[in-house]
Amino acid sequence: MSRRLILFTDLDGTLLELETYDYRPAREALSRLNAQGIPLVFCSSKTRAEQEFYQREMGIRAPMIVENGSAILIPDDYFSREFDYSRAAGGYKVIELGAGVEEIRQETYAARAELQLQFRGYGELSLAELGAWTGLDGEAAARAQARQYSETIVGELSAEDALRLGHALRTKGLVCARGSRFITVMSAASDKGKAVGRLSDLYRREVGGIITAGFGDGANDAPMLAVVDLPFLLQKPGGDWENISDPRIKKAMAIGPAGWNRLVCRLVEDERLRDHSET
Ligand code: MG
Repeated sequence: MSRRLILFTDLDGTLLELETYDYRPAREALSRLNAQGIPLVFCSSKTRAEQEFYQREMGIRAPMIVENGSAILIPDDYFSREFDYSRAAGGYKVIELGAGVEEIRQETYAARAELQLQFRGYGELSLAELGAWTGLDGEAAARAQARQYSETIVGELSAEDALRLGHALRTKGLVCARGSRFITVMSAASDKGKAVGRLSDLYRREVGGIITAGFGDGANDAPMLAVVDLPFLLQKPGGDWENISDPRIKKAMAIGPAGWNRLVCRLVEDERLRDHSET
């Protein structure tokens, strides 16, 4: 019996080119997914405002997992069955896994003072400063700054200092997740894997048998890749893979949106791959 394919994807460095945020090399795969009605769920450190922007650009209507697994946003009439959610907002049923951004910012800045570190948080930057760090223009910078459940930090932070910060924040119930570009501080109660697991359960209840595939390039993608049936780790722009020691994860010869395009086209064409995979 065939199972419904559901795709979960990271954005930065995966579906979006790392420096330019270009997704056009993936257009062929995106139109195939649309044509075949295969759900594509963004699962990224990006905010709701940013993900909505890319959903509109790509013509996608699907749930999204925002801010590194901190919340799942499901369009109001997307699933026919009832399910538990935290609140309704802006046309979505929102399942919140993480803490609110105010609490996270407070703890992050307190830890910085205590450890005498120099980084800055998105919440402290002007739009121009945020643009200079990220390469995002005014509106895109505003969308990136509209965080609800996590704080992204920029600036010089040695690996050792990042560890010290991580230890200090862990005592407050927070964790640091390193993405393709920056470190994001978020609740220890949330990660991409927990969110993907919750949403996969909802799909399973709705459509029966599913097979899930995940695409990512960074350390923060490891929890997502650990819970999907078909996990693909893409290469960094130089050709290296993030050091993730999970033998289930397939290291794909693929970089950014062009590589994503090839992987997804192959996946939607390959019925055997679906039939032979274990759930
Ligand atoms: Mg990434």
